[in-house]
Amino acid sequence: MLDGLRERFCLEYEDKTADAERWCRITVMRFDDSGKIRALVLHETLDEVINASAGLEFEDLFADFTATLMRTNAHEIDDEIERWLGRIGLALELDRTTIAQLNRDGQNPVVTHAWAREGVQPIPVGLEVATVMPWLTRKAMRGESVVFSDEQELPLEARPDLEWVVRLGGISSHVMVPLTVAGVVHGAVGFGSIYRRRPWSPRSIRRLQMVSEVFGSALLRKRIAVENIRLANEIHQVSRAATMGEMTAALAHELNQPLAAILNNSRVVQRLLAAKSPDLNEIRAALDDIVRDNARAVEIVRDVRSVFQPGEAKMSPVDMKQVLQDIKRMVSADAKTRNIALSINSSDRLAPVIGDRPHLIEVLLNLILNAFDAVCESDNGPREVTVVAEERSPGELRVSIRDSGRGIDSEALAHLFEPFFTTKSSGMGMGLTIARSIVHNHGGRLWAVQNPDRGATFEFTLPAQPAARIRA
Ligand code: ADP
Repeated sequence: MLDGLRERFCLEYEDKTADAERWCRITVMRFDDSGKIRALVLHETLDEVINASAGLEFEDLFADFTATLMRTNAHEIDDEIERWLGRIGLALELDRTTIAQLNRDGQNPVVTHAWAREGVQPIPVGLEVATVMPWLTRKAMRGESVVFSDEQELPLEARPDLEWVVRLGGISSHVMVPLTVAGVVHGAVGFGSIYRRRPWSPRSIRRLQMVSEVFGSALLRKRIAVENIRLANEIHQVSRAATMGEMTAALAHELNQPLAAILNNSRVVQRLLAAKSPDLNEIRAALDDIVRDNARAVEIVRDVRSVFQPGEAKMSPVDMKQVLQDIKRMVSADAKTRNIALSINSSDRLAPVIGDRPHLIEVLLNLILNAFDAVCESDNGPREVTVVAEERSPGELRVSIRDSGRGIDSEALAHLFEPFFTTKSSGMGMGLTIARSIVHNHGGRLWAVQNPDRGATFEFTLPAQPAARIRA
């Protein structure tokens, strides 16, 4: 062990007594890369030195552990925790490391992460610990630690726990420390040794508590991230529902057209069939129209569904020209009712963007419906909304929505994209926040400017795929 340390530490010792193993004074000098002494530690006994050297190794490991878990993305925290349960287990010569956390209803701790040395059975993930280890569970939920070096030290009430662990391969020594998340006991972390009875010094217990604290803060971070996603999805849904409320009438109007055309053409077919010698060409043409109008109705319904559908972004190549045509169909009736001249133009050929079609539709709808509101709020002057999509530079698609509305004053301009900023009596102030986060998720930017003459222009960019063009 000491040999191994020589590379990293400079050791000196002088024998003070005949019992060299117990009584020696050793100076451990720790150097940094430049050769400066970073730490000087005096130890009176050899045991202490061995413990301390293991401690210094643990210090390095712990620093790495803390830094890694702090850096880890929330969605990768679980995997990282499992990895570290293993690394810490091996470094501390343990056989099993386990985390149990309270389940969703906050009642029963359930094993969520587990590691076991090769050849040792881990505590199964998903196990409700109270069912097999009632004594340990009660202790854990009271926020108490349990430390034993020999199973004989356990009280009688712990027998059921012990019997179960024995069935799983046994336990010799064990430390269980509470797992606190945001200052509240949320479960426990168990560190077990099966083959070796080992004494637990106060220092080693403190180390395990520190490990548990780091796990606790990583799990808190994950919890906050999960909660944020849930809230964002909820807001997303509410905003979608609000947008859909406004669009329902327009869509009903849209759907009426193909349905009326289908009815008309069906009547034509009935009439033609009633003739003595039916004109088959005319019947075929009417049936073709019915099929086409039906496809249109199906497409309209599909678009409504896709706007309503919650869920994560599913990225695939998206033809923005097609998206804009669909948007035009969705909002033209609304524009007509509100007496707005809407023009939607795009270059003949647009490179596809990699994106989530429903999310991109949501961005465009938010911006276009806002533009409609802005022109309607302006008392006089032209009521125009112009949407242009073009590839200004290779690999970048730019979409602008320009309106002749009331414009944005400089104070509002500074807050437009903040959550819940609205100037509308029934506004929610989430449309632009969501639109910007969607555009950012696609690797683009969204901003707004006041037009030099009147109204405002909202513009966003999306990375396009210059190599693979969708044919116009
Ligand atoms: P809301 O649904 O409340 O309008 P948004 O986040 O979509 O929420 O918009 C926030 C605010 O931004 C609006 O209340 C409005 O004051 C302003 N705004 C958005 N688009 C325009 C626009 N085209 N012209 C002027 N102001 C706008």
